[in-house]
Amino acid sequence: MHIIMAASEAIPFAKTGGLADVCGTLPRELAKLGHHCSLFMPGYRKAKRNCAEIHDTHISFVIDMAGKPMTAHLLRTQLPSVDAGGAAAGSSVDVYFIDQPFYFDREELYGDSHGDYRDNCERFSFFSRAVVEAIERLRLPIDILHCHDWQTGLIPAFHRTLYRGYGWYRHCASIMTIHNLAYQGRFWGADMPLTDMDWQYFNWQQMEFFGDLNLLKTGIAFADMITTVSPSYAREIQQPMHGCGLDGLLRSKANRIQGIVNGVDYNVWDPGHDNMIASRYTSSNWKDGKLACKRHLQQKVGLPVRDDVPLIGLIGRLAEQKGWDLVVPLMHRWIDSRDVQWVVLGNGEARFAQALSELAHRRPDRVAVRLEFSDGLAHEIEAGCDLFLMPSRYEPCGLNQLYSLRYGSIPVVHATGGLIDTVNNATTESIDGGTGTGFVFDQYDVDALENCCSRALETYSRTPEVWSKLVLAGMDQDWSWSKSATSYLNAYARARELAACEGRL
Ligand code: ADP
Repeated sequence: MHIIMAASEAIPFAKTGGLADVCGTLPRELAKLGHHCSLFMPGYRKAKRNCAEIHDTHISFVIDMAGKPMTAHLLRTQLPSVDAGGAAAGSSVDVYFIDQPFYFDREELYGDSHGDYRDNCERFSFFSRAVVEAIERLRLPIDILHCHDWQTGLIPAFHRTLYRGYGWYRHCASIMTIHNLAYQGRFWGADMPLTDMDWQYFNWQQMEFFGDLNLLKTGIAFADMITTVSPSYAREIQQPMHGCGLDGLLRSKANRIQGIVNGVDYNVWDPGHDNMIASRYTSSNWKDGKLACKRHLQQKVGLPVRDDVPLIGLIGRLAEQKGWDLVVPLMHRWIDSRDVQWVVLGNGEARFAQALSELAHRRPDRVAVRLEFSDGLAHEIEAGCDLFLMPSRYEPCGLNQLYSLRYGSIPVVHATGGLIDTVNNATTESIDGGTGTGFVFDQYDVDALENCCSRALETYSRTPEVWSKLVLAGMDQDWSWSKSATSYLNAYARARELAACEGRL
């Protein structure tokens, strides 16, 4: 199959979250399975900086942005294939950067300390249009057009309207993957001319959302198939509580929605060959390996180096979604009374950053906080902590709990979305059966989180043999991309079937 992906971020070029992990890894896995895959993304300043080699295609074209002619220039590189051990080499996946300095030569991807860039609708309308134009100019064969999140939501609409029956688009079906429904790309309705779509599509079933232009809704409305990143989240977003206003539209597309859990790139995230951690280990020597990593981490972040104290790790965006409104009160409850260490890595909202900094200031012997984005430290936390806390209010998939399983750091999670699909609660039966891998709480409140953490800490200190069983059950699981890539291939086949049934293929 010939698959073309469009996304606003992909590792190793540019990353703000899990979307980048998926878009930098899935194309390679599809290529490994014998399919031909290309990826398009914006030519951000940092994406170009993170390229080993970059080629000029000498292809440029002009896009009319509501009367303003803007040139798109195509650059080409390749997705590196990382071998176990970290050596990078070229893969067979071509990556095309849509280069336009006015839109993309900026320090960040979506915004800076003042908030989102004010021209994001224009930037990503331009990107989406440029992708569709570029595919034609490069004469790329295409069976599947796979779009990710609101930044590419216009592409399925272009496919079904402006480019309908045009060139290769006659032979392809489109997929829209929702990585997080809360981010919809909602803009002032008057931005509609930037999309070049006819105003007839600005209606409540397609592009309009309470008077605004909604780019994710657009993608959902026009795509042949919709996927999201876990089966539970696929169900949750069809209900008002997690539907973010789009649950009705999603319910009307229920037969086109599939949930596929993200995979883990074990070339990058495996303690057996992770060069970023202090000591490498596998399930046969995890106790010694993790202890060395724990000591190193404690020393690095300035916590007392103690083997006996449980170390709780947290990594993630400082956004309400991630459960900081439960974590901070729990830390306050425990800060003087419980002999526990916390190491937190995250950046984002100032209110959480300030609350966490205050806690670290009050008890530097118990709390270490790093308010930054650091891939290296993320690896060290995964390896060095005993428990990994992920109490997200909602979580489409979540990656850190999957990394934690492989690193033998027991996840403590809220029963939602991808967390419930990937972490199996420790009960008498699941522990005996060797299937328990973590601790799960149902009710989203501080008491439930506290009870769950207490249960985990008790197991840690009183029944080390049970703890070992949980660690080993998690480390032995396989959440690699090969399974998820096969599920995506099934979704692609289904999208083509649906398009064919409607007489469009
Ligand atoms: P989301 O995409 O909602 O932010 P995910 O769990 O799907 O959450 O993916 C987050 C990814 O970003 C993980 O790979 C995680 O390790 C990484 N990450 C998040 N915050 C940081 C940070 N401050 N430093 C390093 N890595 C981070």
